[in-house]
Amino acid sequence: MIQTIEQIRSKAIDFNMPIDWAIHKKKEYVKERLQGIEAQKRILSKYLIKPTLNKAERELIFLALTDIKKWESDLLRYHKLLNSKYRENKITDDMIRIAKEYPIEKLVDVQKGKSLCINHKDTNPSMDCRKNFAHCYVCDETWDTIDIVMKTQGMEFGEAVRYLNE
Ligand SMILES: [Zn+2]
Repeated sequence: MIQTIEQIRSKAIDFNMPIDWAIHKKKEYVKERLQGIEAQKRILSKYLIKPTLNKAERELIFLALTDIKKWESDLLRYHKLLNSKYRENKITDDMIRIAKEYPIEKLVDVQKGKSLCINHKDTNPSMDCRKNFAHCYVCDETWDTIDIVMKTQGMEFGEAVRYLNE
């Protein structure tokens, strides 16, 4: 559920949606989640002070509260990320488009539209390659050419885009 700005941006380009709209949707969702967490925290805190609680119940509620606070801090960090500038690394939309058009066959060994998965130990090709995307039916994951380079060469998004533009 937590994606980098670049991942959101890359998807927005795939579907021809404005990046600001895509980020706005994500921000709305994160805001809603944070409000939900706030409500849960209130309810649990109220329970915690009930005198009738036994030790086990108190511990369970305490654990739930700890989990919730962890989600909250993850979401807050994400919220901050979504509000940061996302065009700082000088990767243009055109560069991303060119990178996505890089022939997938040059990145993975495709035989009859299939290839060994880049994500799991595969001996019998499970990865379907079409329309310049790869999809593994075992991992249930889909990668475009940028994702493939990131995955197989351990590059960051920007590095992978530049690499595919060379
Ligand atoms: Zn796989």
